[in-house]
Amino acid sequence: MSVSPAVVQWMAESAPTFEFAASLHAQYNRKGVLSPAQIAAAERCIEKRNASMQTREQTAPDADMSPLVDCFKHAKDQGAKRPGLIVGSFKFTMAGDESANPGAIYAKDRTQGVYLGKFTRAKFFKARECNTDQEALLLEIAKDPLRAAIDHGRMTGECALCSRTLSDPESIERGIGPVCAKKFGW
Ligand SMILES: [Zn+2]
Repeated sequence: MSVSPAVVQWMAESAPTFEFAASLHAQYNRKGVLSPAQIAAAERCIEKRNASMQTREQTAPDADMSPLVDCFKHAKDQGAKRPGLIVGSFKFTMAGDESANPGAIYAKDRTQGVYLGKFTRAKFFKARECNTDQEALLLEIAKDPLRAAIDHGRMTGECALCSRTLSDPESIERGIGPVCAKKFGW
């Protein structure tokens, strides 16, 4: 039975932290199909997740996350297909237009593949797996992503936006590749 984009997205997002999603995802990747019972079960999981996300949204603190959200939007408007930002072990990506949260920014721990939460311009929706230290760091980055990208670049010698090694002296000095920086509106 064919699988809806919402279910495919749920499997991909939940697989790292939810064994049931991981097993469905593995099967789907192998065979390209799921049974009607599996799809129904996945849809129940999505409903539950949405309900619990709504509860968290109502309790999430207000904060100005627009610098992070807006630089991704800028990159998208400049034609970047899959803009990304890497800061230390964190990876930020943008939700697709067809997703449940178009324009939102997802945060992951890239070393463990764990989903940590999502940003809109006004709120950070923390995932269960995100600990207090990670939350504090993520909020700092969201308020000033350029600063974070530069720190990452200087520390690792890699561009925070495209992961390439910074090679020319000016980029090394700046801590970020000029073409990438421009794309993000910096
Ligand atoms: Zn770059």
